[in-house]
Amino acid sequence: MSNGRGFDADVILSGGGLVGQTLALALDQAGASVVVVDASKPAETLAPSFDGRAFAIAFASYRMWRALGLGDELDQVAQPIEQIMVTDGKLGDGGRRGGPSLLHLHFSAAELWSDGAHAGETPAVHSEPLGLMLEARHVRRALDNGVKARPSIKMIQPMSVSAIARDAAGVTVTLADGKRLRAPLLVGADGRRSFVRGAVGIRTIGWDYPVTAIVATIRHEKPHSAVAHEFFLPNGPFAILPLKGNRSNIVWAEPRAVADALLKMDEADFLAELRRRFGDFLGALSLEGPRFGYPLSLQLAERMIDQRVCLAGDSAHGIHPLAGQGLNLGLKDCAALAECVADGMALGLDPGDVSILERYQRWRRFDNVTMALGMEFFDKMFSNSFAPLRAARRLGLAAVNGVGPARRFFMKYAGGAAGDLPKLLRGESLAA
Ligand SMILES: Cc1cc2nc3c(=O)[nH]c(=O)nc-3n(C[C@H](O)[C@H](O)[C@H](O)COP(=O)(O)OP(=O)(O)OC[C@H]3O[C@@H](n4cnc5c(N)ncnc54)[C@H](O)[C@@H]3O)c2cc1C
Repeated sequence: MSNGRGFDADVILSGGGLVGQTLALALDQAGASVVVVDASKPAETLAPSFDGRAFAIAFASYRMWRALGLGDELDQVAQPIEQIMVTDGKLGDGGRRGGPSLLHLHFSAAELWSDGAHAGETPAVHSEPLGLMLEARHVRRALDNGVKARPSIKMIQPMSVSAIARDAAGVTVTLADGKRLRAPLLVGADGRRSFVRGAVGIRTIGWDYPVTAIVATIRHEKPHSAVAHEFFLPNGPFAILPLKGNRSNIVWAEPRAVADALLKMDEADFLAELRRRFGDFLGALSLEGPRFGYPLSLQLAERMIDQRVCLAGDSAHGIHPLAGQGLNLGLKDCAALAECVADGMALGLDPGDVSILERYQRWRRFDNVTMALGMEFFDKMFSNSFAPLRAARRLGLAAVNGVGPARRFFMKYAGGAAGDLPKLLRGESLAA
C-alpha cells in the first residue's frame, strides 16, 4: 500500500482495540488511508469469554458508531438506559424500594431534553436514552465486521510495533517481524501500557487504587425496567447495569484481598455474598458466565501529542470506571482527531502537521483531565465513612437532585453531549 508520496498510509495506528478500530473507521470515512497494527490474536479477542465487561456508552458516543455504519448490528444488542439511580449507601436505603430518598440522585431520559433544543442538535436526538449498555463481545464483533467491510483499511494482526524513528516529514515504524511502515502520523491507541507513549518519552502521572473491580453478568427473575443503579458502598462503588433480557452486568469494587477471595469462591457462596449487596428487588439471581477481576488504577499522560505522534484512548487516560466513562473519553478522542485530520487535509496539510495535532490536544485534553479528576473526587468522597464527609455528600446529592437544570447538566455531561461537539458525536458523517 502506498499513498503516492513514499508513505504506506496517511496514518498508522498502533493498537486496534475498541478505540483503535473506531478511529480507523472514522479516519477512513474522513478520506485518510489507514494501517492498523494490533498485537492481539483475533481468535482470542473475539471469543465471547475474552472480556466479561459491558460498557455504558454515552448517547453521543453511540451516535458516532451509528454514523460509522455500525448501527444495524449494534441496535439489535444494545440495551437503552432510561433511568439512573445513584444511591449513597446500601440497597435498603431506598434503592431497592425504588421510592424517592434524600440519599438519591435520580436521572431520567424523559427529563433529559425537556429544556428544549440546543445548537447543533436535531429534534431526532431528543428521544435518545441516557446511554446504552453494550456487552464487550458484541462491540468487538461489530467493530471487527465494520473494519473488514472496508478494504481500504489495512489491518496487520497479530503484530506489535517494536520501534519508532522520526524525522521532519514522517514516522518510520518497525514491526516485530522486522518490516517497516512509514506515514506522516502515528497514533498510539495501544492502551494503558502504550509502547508509543514510552518510545516518544511522554510521561504519565497516576497511581493504583487499592481495589479490584469484580465484573460478572447476572440473570435475574424480574425485569430491570432499563434502570441502572450505582450504589456507593464503604468499600467502593457497586453498579447494576441493565442488559438485554432479564440480565444485568455488575461492577463491584472491593479491596484487592477481598476481591481475590470473592473471585475464587464457589458459585453458591459468591451468589450469597452478592445477594447481600444486590438485595432481592430483581428476584432470584444466577450467574451467567465467569467472573472477571480488573485491578484499578489512574493513569494520565502529561500530554497527548509529540512530533508526528499523538495518543488516543487509554494510552492517554486510564481512569476509574465508576461512572463508565473511560471508553467514552477514548471515543471522543476518535471523533475529534478524525475531524482535525479531515479539516487539515482539506486545507492541504499533511495529517501529522503540528497545527492539526495542537488543535486535537486543545479539543480533548481539558475534558480528559476533568473527567479523570472528577472520578477521583467521587471515589475519595464516597469511599469514606467519615461522618462529616458522609453528611456533605448526602447534602450534595440532595441538592443536585432538587434542581432540574443541575440534573440535566450532569445528564448531558455524562452523555457526552456537553461542550463543543465534533461532528461524529452529533451523528454527522465526515465523508466529504
Ligand atoms: C471494570 C471496567 C469497566 C469499564 N466500564 C466502562 C464503561 O461502562 N464505559 C466506558 O466508557 N468505559 C469503561 N471502561 C473503560 C474501557 O474498558 C477502556 O477505556 C477501553 O477498553 C480502552 O480501550 P483502548 O482501545 O484505548 O485500549 P485497549 O482496549 O487496552 O486496547 C489496546 C490495543 O492495543 C494493542 N497493543 C498494545 N501494545 C501494542 C503494540 N506495541 N503494538 C501493536 N498493538 C499493541 C492491544 O493488543 C490492544 O488491542 C471500563 C474499564 C474497566 C476496567
